[in-house]
Amino acid sequence: MTHLHIPTPLLQHRALSAQLDKQVWLKMENTQPSGSFKLRGIGLLCQRAVAAGATHLVCPSGGNAGFAAAVAGAALGVRTTIIVPQTTPENVRQAIRAIGAELIVEGKQWDEANQLALRLCQDPAAMYIPPFDHPDIWDGNATLIDEVVKAAHRFDVVICSVGGGGLLSGVVQGLQRNGLSQTPVIAVETEGAASLHAAVQAGELVTLPAITSIASTLGASRVAQQAFQYTREHDIKTVTVTDAQAIQACLRFADDMRVLVEPACGAALAVAYQNLAVLAPYQRPLIVVCGGMGVDLAILAKLGTLQASL
Ligand SMILES: *Cc1c(COP(=O)(O)O)cnc(C)c1O
Repeated sequence: MTHLHIPTPLLQHRALSAQLDKQVWLKMENTQPSGSFKLRGIGLLCQRAVAAGATHLVCPSGGNAGFAAAVAGAALGVRTTIIVPQTTPENVRQAIRAIGAELIVEGKQWDEANQLALRLCQDPAAMYIPPFDHPDIWDGNATLIDEVVKAAHRFDVVICSVGGGGLLSGVVQGLQRNGLSQTPVIAVETEGAASLHAAVQAGELVTLPAITSIASTLGASRVAQQAFQYTREHDIKTVTVTDAQAIQACLRFADDMRVLVEPACGAALAVAYQNLAVLAPYQRPLIVVCGGMGVDLAILAKLGTLQASL
C-alpha cells in the first residue's frame, strides 16, 4: 500500500539555533496535503478500513481530523461523511465539501456530532474514524519518526503538542520501533487544555471539566489511555505553556520561517521560543511542526491583538 501522506521536509531553524546555541530542527508536518500531520494516522486507518471492506467513512470532527479524513476518503474513492457541530466555521465546512466529502452539521457540541457518527456506523459498511484514539492512527503517526531516522538525522529530544495524545503515541511508537526507546519526548499542552498533564499529576486518567484555552485543537477533555500509559513507560516530560506564549510562537514562526501554524502547533514551538528550562539538557531538539488548517492571515492578526491583551 502506498501512503496517502507525503514525506515532509526536515529543516533547521537557523535563527532559533543561533539564539539558543543548539541545533533546532523542524519536521514540517504543516506541508501535508491535509495541512497537519493527521493524514499520516487517519490516512492509514482509512486505508486499512477500505482494504478490509468499508465503503463509507464517517468522522465526527470539524477540525484537522475531519479534514484529514475527507482528504483520505477522496484519495481512496469512497463515500466519506464528516459530521461537525454548529460551532464549526463556514470556511472549514466549505473546505470539507470542496474535497468531495458529505458534510452534516449536528448539535451544538462535538459530543452530539459524535453520537450521530456512532449511529451511522451501526451500518456494517461504515467505518467510524475517531480523531486520535486508535492503534492504526498511532502506527501511521509513527511514520514521521521513521522518516527522520531514515534521513540519518540525529536528535536528542522530540517536542510535540498533545490534544488527545494520538500524535504523542505515534511519536513514542516511532522512537521505540527505531531503537530510540531512550530518547525523551517533551509533550506540550496549553493551560486550559492540559488533560495529559492533569492525568500525570493525578496518576490516573482525568476528564477536564472544561476547555478554556484558545488552542481548541488541543481541547480533548480526556487523553487516550495509550498516551497516559506511555508516560509510565517512556521518558515523557509534560509541559504547559500559556495561550499568549503559543500565539507569540505562531507570530514569530511566521516571521522567521514564513509559515502559518495554529496555536496548537505554536504550543510546541513555544518551548524553544521561550527557551524553557526543560530544554536545557538537550543540544539537538526535533520539533514536530504539527501545522493545522485553522489559521490564515486574518486569524493570526486577531490572535496577535488578543495576545497583546492577555
Ligand atoms: C490533532 C492536532 C494536534 C493534537 O494531536 P492529538 O493526536 O489529538 O494529540 C495538535 N496540533 C494539530 C495541528 C492537530 O491537528
